[in-house]
Amino acid sequence: MGTPLEPRDAQAEEVVDRLMEEYPDSTISLRYSNRLELLIAVILSAQCTDERVNKETEHLFAKYDGPEDYASVDEEELAEDLNSITYYNSKAGYIKSSARDIIEKHDGEVPDTMDELTELSGVGRKTANVVLQHGHDVVEGIVVDTHVQRISRRLGLTEEKRPEAIEPDLMEIVPEDVWQQYTHLLIDHGRATCTARNPDCDDCVLADICPSEKGDSDIDLASGEAW
Ligand code: SF4
Repeated sequence: MGTPLEPRDAQAEEVVDRLMEEYPDSTISLRYSNRLELLIAVILSAQCTDERVNKETEHLFAKYDGPEDYASVDEEELAEDLNSITYYNSKAGYIKSSARDIIEKHDGEVPDTMDELTELSGVGRKTANVVLQHGHDVVEGIVVDTHVQRISRRLGLTEEKRPEAIEPDLMEIVPEDVWQQYTHLLIDHGRATCTARNPDCDDCVLADICPSEKGDSDIDLASGEAW
């Protein structure tokens, strides 16, 4: 078991510093070429890997161009075009409805506020945060996906369990200028080393400051259960 730095903000800063060295090019892995494509890619990425989304959006973005195309297509046809994505039927409905709202309420532009974005169908705070950060250069919070949730808990940075509670808790201790990068760093670390089922603690740059480190700790703080 590693020994976390105290107070929590010192631990957060050390984690960010080390992961920045480890993953200097860390950034969003979804592919898109405009704000609408970003919004659609993020809606599709819920409960689905970015890799799969990128594969599907390659032909999707070639076929559909602009909110009018998504708003006017038959929902079943759109769903068929997404059929390798988890929950593709629901997501086709979200995309179509969002495109309609973007045309009718926002002059065809993807909105740039948290309130307006979260009024769109299928858009929660997490999706809105990603669109604000990467589409509008507005950083209002920290995107808490499954990697951020798991690893922040393992590292003792939060004891909260739900993403809605984890986000404000992290915003108190992660420096504001790295809120956006924090997410990408933890996602990279979650994919490369601190995986859900079998983290490679022996080869982890955070081992000496991680209270979940498998060598000594019996408990995975992400789940609160024994390794
Ligand atoms: S890989 Fe192990 S030591 Fe590293 S952050 Fe994850 S649980 Fe902690």
